[in-house]
Amino acid sequence: MAVLWLDEISAGDLEKVGGKGASLGELTGAGLPVPPGFVVTAGTYRSFIEEAEIDEELFAAVDVDVDDSSALADAADRAQELILETPFPDELREEILESYRQVGDGEAFVAVRSSATAEDLPDASFAGQQETFLNVTEEALLDRVRECWASLFTQRAIYYRQEQGFDHSAVNIAVVVQQMVDAEKSGVMFTSHPSTGDPTMIIEAAWGLGEAVVSGAVSPDNYVVEREDRSIDVTVAEKKVMHEKDEETGETVETEVPQDKRNARVLSEDEIGALMDLGERVEDHYDKPQDVEWAIVEGEVYMLQSRPITTIDESDGGATASEATGSVDASTGLTDGSGGVQAAAGESSSSGADASGEVIVDGLGSSPGTVSGAARIVKKLDDLDKVGEGDIIVTEMTMPDMVPAMKRASGIITDEGGMTSHAAIVSRELGVPAIVGTTNATTVLEDGQLVTLDGDKGAVLEGKEVEPDEETEPVEEVRPQSPVKPMTATEVKVNVSIPEAAERAAATGADGVGLLRMEHMILSLNQTPAKFIAENGEDAYITELVEGIRGVADEFYPRPVRVRTLDAPTDEFRQLEGGEDEPKEHNPMLGYRGIRRSLDRPDVFAHELEAFRRLYEMGYDNVEIMFPLVNDAEDIYQAKSLMKEAGIDPEKRRWGAMIETPASALSVEEMAKAGIDFASFGTNDLTQYTLAVDRNNEHVADRFDELHPAILKLIGDVIETCREHDVDTSICGQAGSKPEMVQFLAKEGVTSISANIDAVRDVQHEVKRVEQKLLLDSVR
Ligand code: PEP
Ligand code: MG
Repeated sequence: MAVLWLDEISAGDLEKVGGKGASLGELTGAGLPVPPGFVVTAGTYRSFIEEAEIDEELFAAVDVDVDDSSALADAADRAQELILETPFPDELREEILESYRQVGDGEAFVAVRSSATAEDLPDASFAGQQETFLNVTEEALLDRVRECWASLFTQRAIYYRQEQGFDHSAVNIAVVVQQMVDAEKSGVMFTSHPSTGDPTMIIEAAWGLGEAVVSGAVSPDNYVVEREDRSIDVTVAEKKVMHEKDEETGETVETEVPQDKRNARVLSEDEIGALMDLGERVEDHYDKPQDVEWAIVEGEVYMLQSRPITTIDESDGGATASEATGSVDASTGLTDGSGGVQAAAGESSSSGADASGEVIVDGLGSSPGTVSGAARIVKKLDDLDKVGEGDIIVTEMTMPDMVPAMKRASGIITDEGGMTSHAAIVSRELGVPAIVGTTNATTVLEDGQLVTLDGDKGAVLEGKEVEPDEETEPVEEVRPQSPVKPMTATEVKVNVSIPEAAERAAATGADGVGLLRMEHMILSLNQTPAKFIAENGEDAYITELVEGIRGVADEFYPRPVRVRTLDAPTDEFRQLEGGEDEPKEHNPMLGYRGIRRSLDRPDVFAHELEAFRRLYEMGYDNVEIMFPLVNDAEDIYQAKSLMKEAGIDPEKRRWGAMIETPASALSVEEMAKAGIDFASFGTNDLTQYTLAVDRNNEHVADRFDELHPAILKLIGDVIETCREHDVDTSICGQAGSKPEMVQFLAKEGVTSISANIDAVRDVQHEVKRVEQKLLLDSVR
């Protein structure tokens, strides 16, 4: 038998039918309303390749060095070609087609989905690598089945198996063929709270097919239902788009939601009741909270998929909101009203460490958490060897090649730098408590001296005040959340600067990456691009970029990852090998950086664009391109034309600009007409350029105020203009992690907010609160 019917399958058939097939079979068997269908088994795939005698060639073709991008691309092409060009044996063809004809009397549109036997392994990256085809008819069915098989050999899939030590020949794939439900409404449902496990069901719903909700293309309505008393808390979102079947071509298309349904509530009380009953049945059946995909057509509720919720923190329920709010406040030490350097010293007696310790150094608390350890004064790179596990690095300013030591250290203290300096950004991403901008730590502290670092207050205390088991590290405050679905109408994303932080960032459940800084990847080469290219060649440089971005794009796939082209001031490049050739500038912050440098050297910029082109070719359609430090539409037109020259179609890809100069804020309408898909506020720079306050100068740190009315005015105006032109807006500057800024932006109607890793959860809560308040205000 090449196929098994869903009602013949149970959970124990995982090896034969893959994770998706087994789950659908199990649900069908439990009497739940699953659309009918069958599975082309994993054994069928196996005998197809073995009987056609392509198996050995297939596995040999993909046995390549996956770090060699062009070899990987060739391997994927060859493997897929082998599968796609091998004809079906007659008997198999007939059996599959005959089964299809029994579904919906041969007239049916079916969904064809791969169901890999390793797909539901705990590592989320494995999931989503395989194919889904909707609205398939008899004509195309066999090709689609073969394409599902071939999807085992995309570049991403080969790369991941190799990275994770899976044997290519040991992974099999089944294909689910199931009647399409022409959903009028659909969505997802958590049968219990996805992070606390409380008896609260959360339902997200939108118009049309569910792909729009799962992929994040639409912000769904949100219904929070208390299971005990069935009380419902409703948040109706503006649903601009929906996915539906095109009646002529049968293809799934994205269409605009008709005006009268955009702000209308999707689910009635009765439908919520029906979904709740279903949720309770499926949770009882598995005896575990479930994450369910559902659809409603003509009043009938269908279940499309159910998986256990893996994000519930079993150690201690839901006490995270208020704790975590503390960490957001702490991470905004610079301008949170308690005011930076002075306040940190003044408040040290109430710091997280014991008050008996004397404050010996103070600065900006830039990464939260309290730790004790031996200070290690690092004046030159050779000193890094003396930094052992648990020591505290004390240095003028961190540099890219300090990252391995920063990972070992329990804390970091610098003389220089502000909240957006290298030390601050990297320590936050690594989850290592840090204080920056102390001015004097390297002279006041002594090598080997035992100190306590309070990264919330920005205070260094004499002596050891906390035992290792009392130490609070920010990493523990990041709790996994719903893996793909936005719980708020405003998306909440995360900033990533070093690829090493990607996994931790993805575990926050953020809706994507709002800013991936390319220059951090280059800084870690420890050579300027020119030097690296001179020594290793252009291709090696492009490969470095591809690999760095790919690591993050994989971790988040299919959530979008917004990658910013190079924006390193010349003084940062000067620290690198080859840096002596960098132009000497009186004021690098106003100098040769961002898009102005890229447009001045299109030959160098072309390497970055080529890296994007290769990523798109490899299937990373979740990568978006963002241009830094633009001033006007002319910058945009030039960048767009270089994209085209590099073989990237600006109409097909999502790309946009940072709003970091007052000029760009005032020119956004023209930039919208030039075709940007999004504008993202870089408030670190927008603040320094609007207020004329050097962001890295601790002497004027108390004047660095991202909430200054002038800045809020620029931001508010840009959001309004962008809404008129259907351009998304977001924030990726440090201020996106501040509650006051989050409140302002959510009220103004920003599309997304990108926060620091440790602030994602709190920003989600803050956004939710603002959205609910807006909604209540509108009905009161
Ligand atoms: C900004 O300016 O706010 C920003 C996000 O860019 P960077 O900090 O890298 O200059
Ligand atoms: Mg900037």
